[in-house]
Amino acid sequence: MAKLTPEEIEERKKAVWRRIAENQKIKKELMEERSKERSKQQAAKARRKLMALVDADVPPPIRCSRCGSTSLHAGDKGFSFINAAAGGLLFGAVGLLGGLIDSSQVVITCLNCGKQWIPGA
Ligand SMILES: [Zn+2]
Repeated sequence: MAKLTPEEIEERKKAVWRRIAENQKIKKELMEERSKERSKQQAAKARRKLMALVDADVPPPIRCSRCGSTSLHAGDKGFSFINAAAGGLLFGAVGLLGGLIDSSQVVITCLNCGKQWIPGA
């Protein structure tokens, strides 16, 4: 077995360290690539979940059966657009209370033409 000079030993040591460093670099890059892929998948999964929630949550658009407008006011206090307008015109602020009819009923008011209806009726 040939004896190595101290320079040769040093050279071999450096070569080994280089290889280790390269391996670690490759390993790190692989891990980064993998975690990037994973977070991409997680983001896509989260997006799908969100879209499913949105799809489930959004009711079909309600349109006015008279004019087709989607500018509607869902009055959970039975707020009457026409009564309030007429009442407000004739009796001022007190008349506005006239718009509150049958507070137990949800009334949808078309903000475009003023048509009112009870949903589901
Ligand atoms: Zn309308």
